[in-house]
Amino acid sequence: MEEKMTVGAAPKSGNSPPLSENTDGRRSRREISLETGGDMPPWLDEAPPPMEEYSPAIDYAEYVDAAPEKSSKKDIIGGLDWHGLETMVAECQACTLHSTRSNTVFGVGEREADLMIIGEAPGAEEDRKGEPFVGRAGQLLNAMLHAIGLSRKQVFIANILKCRPPGNRDPRSDEVLKCEPYLMRQVALVKPRVILAAGRVAAQNLLKSTEAVGRMRGRDFNYNGIPVVVSYHPAYLLRSPEQKAKSWQDLQRAVRLLSG
Ligand code: SF4
Repeated sequence: MEEKMTVGAAPKSGNSPPLSENTDGRRSRREISLETGGDMPPWLDEAPPPMEEYSPAIDYAEYVDAAPEKSSKKDIIGGLDWHGLETMVAECQACTLHSTRSNTVFGVGEREADLMIIGEAPGAEEDRKGEPFVGRAGQLLNAMLHAIGLSRKQVFIANILKCRPPGNRDPRSDEVLKCEPYLMRQVALVKPRVILAAGRVAAQNLLKSTEAVGRMRGRDFNYNGIPVVVSYHPAYLLRSPEQKAKSWQDLQRAVRLLSG
């Protein structure tokens, strides 16, 4: 039997504010119907495209050994509002990726979302459109969100990197370090109640880990105090559809955290 959870509904008892409304009153009341349980959604049965190589794990030792970004720049970014942050990202030349990008990919969606989805880096289509999670992977993400009662516009979607690595290679440690303050600021501004780390690059960089996604799934993590659910990237699910059932479990876990 299908179970429905509502984020934003008034609590059954007590004087607590609605779940999607911050105690500081910053957010407007939103009624978001989140669905869990029930039949498997249609996207689970989608036919896979041809298999591609799944890239190997990043060298996290290289990541932690890299020189830290100057704190003064982090401080500046940490004080920016949305407009200032978006402008700074659009003009950023902090790493070499600026020279090969067509567009920066800042992030899209509800800027006061309860759920924030973080992926890895823009691919070719994202670079062209300046938007994360487009193309077939984006369509699958939309279907996954729809299955839990959310639209793309009700979540905030961003990447670890704002510019495309050439040839869709993995982000390098120096690039991640340069770009990280932008993502940190986005998380601080959105103040999501749950973060979904989509894929290995997002999970490992957010959580400073070298573990595989398969070992991180289902465990409790947090990013600056915000619960993080680790799951597979939709692009990986297109290559490995047998993992879709696990990603469905991860989504339902995110729903439970949002509703708790
Ligand atoms: S990837 Fe990030 S740090 Fe590098 S140029 Fe783009 S916005 Fe700047």
